[in-house]
Amino acid sequence: MADKSAYVEVFGCLQNEADGEALRGVLRGMGYAFTPAAADADLVVLVSCAVREKAEQRLYGRLGSLARGGKPGRVVAVCGCAPQLPAARDTIRRSYPHVNLLFAPGEIASLPALLSALTASGERLFTPIGAQAPPETAAPPPLRAAGPKANVSVMTGCNNACSYCVVPRARGPERSRSPERIEEEVRALVADGYTEIWLLGQNVCSYAFGFPALLRRLAAIDGRFALRFMTSHPKDTGEELFRVMASCEKVAPFLHLPVQSGSDNMLRAMNRGYTREEYLGTVRLARAHVPALNLTSDIIVGFPGESEEDFCATLSLLEEVRFNHLFTFLYSPRSGTPAAALPCGLSAAEKKGRFARLLDAQKRLESA
Ligand code: SAH
Ligand code: SF4
Repeated sequence: MADKSAYVEVFGCLQNEADGEALRGVLRGMGYAFTPAAADADLVVLVSCAVREKAEQRLYGRLGSLARGGKPGRVVAVCGCAPQLPAARDTIRRSYPHVNLLFAPGEIASLPALLSALTASGERLFTPIGAQAPPETAAPPPLRAAGPKANVSVMTGCNNACSYCVVPRARGPERSRSPERIEEEVRALVADGYTEIWLLGQNVCSYAFGFPALLRRLAAIDGRFALRFMTSHPKDTGEELFRVMASCEKVAPFLHLPVQSGSDNMLRAMNRGYTREEYLGTVRLARAHVPALNLTSDIIVGFPGESEEDFCATLSLLEEVRFNHLFTFLYSPRSGTPAAALPCGLSAAEKKGRFARLLDAQKRLESA
């Protein structure tokens, strides 16, 4: 029986889920067993999300509940996005003294060395923002959940600068894995019986070695499986991708294409890099190639300066596109982003009212 036990909890997106699996792989390699109760663990690791204020508050709530109890000598570690943001680091440093270790998403493979350094020094260890494991550090394979679904990270980071978003700072610049390594991993997953392979990245379509070519290469692997991918930024998504989706049976007819708003004013203020008409053109092209397309999107309500007219442009875009599903978010000002400096102008009640109208409109369209 293993004499050390670990508890890993993941908040937020699929990228964090994949990080949680990588982390569990490293911990298994170190001889840890896993416990479903933080109270029984020698090591607690939280993979944090900080994309919206609410997500950050959820992390603090969890850290608060970990302040008391627990095994003597227990280590509490936080990775994911929060430790990459100066304001969140300060809050953790000041208000949660029982957190012993903060480390970066790029350092998961270095966890054994980080834990040794922590034990040797007996002091809290907060590694620098953006820290990376040395390139020669070999990580054991991720410890994945049972199938049929398997996450495969193909790239991380973001080179865009949407004015509301912390991801480029939290995850750093884009880094793509080699097509050879990805193919090797997908082959092994298919051989192990996984039938739904999710290719993940903050912007999968800006994968450095060509995303359509990667899809084609992976779709050529023998076996019964489907490929899905997310997230696609509309400005990087074009005909070549849709051709591959149409011609490769193994690529599922699924596209998550966040639009954020139907108003050109808002798209400009958000620095999204496309107009409403360009977005609609991309959707038409996608559907021309893949008629059965399952199309989903993200919308932000209440961005600074959003007028009733801007909001109605979002509602009319929903009517025009008819998404299969929507992920809707109330705008959350994030410290250090350009949008955080903009005056809001909308009351909480107005934002909530718009949010409810948006949900209603989508519900009506989904059931029509
Ligand atoms: N790379 C992806 C999105 C990553 S974040 C893309 O460009 O589409 C996931 C979603 O969270 C975003 O699409 C956006 O809708 C939402 N989001 C990000 N920052 C936000 C903020 N400050 N307030 C509200 N929603 C936000
Ligand atoms: Fe954030 Fe924009 Fe990058 Fe998406 S593309 S992660 S919304 S900055």
